[in-house]
Amino acid sequence: MTLFEKIAARQIPADIIAEGSDWIAFRDIAPQAPVHFLVVPKRCIPRINEAQVSDEPLLGTLLSAAAATARQEGLGDSGYRIVINNGPDGGETVPHLHIHVLGARHMTWPPG
Ligand code: AMP
Repeated sequence: MTLFEKIAARQIPADIIAEGSDWIAFRDIAPQAPVHFLVVPKRCIPRINEAQVSDEPLLGTLLSAAAATARQEGLGDSGYRIVINNGPDGGETVPHLHIHVLGARHMTWPPG
């Protein structure tokens, strides 16, 4: 099992803030903003580059879940950033697809 599958299965503790039948959202252990959480599919897709056409409904669910959880966290009006890191140059460290949601501070562009 991946680290995030273990979190979804409650084998590793995490600060879970929202959950659906096929996804889970929990706070990042090393937050890069005052609000920083991850939205993760319970079924492991290693990274977005390996997602299949058959994964498209789940990918849509994850984006909707990210926005709904951002609203739940009070970020709906102030705004937030959604990030998916893919592969070595993208900064991916956990090989289980996840959406970062960061907010409650102003984000700069371009990202580092
Ligand atoms: P990435 O670098 O895009 O693969 O993102 C992985 C993220 O997972 C990083 O922001 C880590 O801080 C976060 N992370 C790693 N382990 C845990 C954990 N046990 N609970 C919550 N977040 C974690």
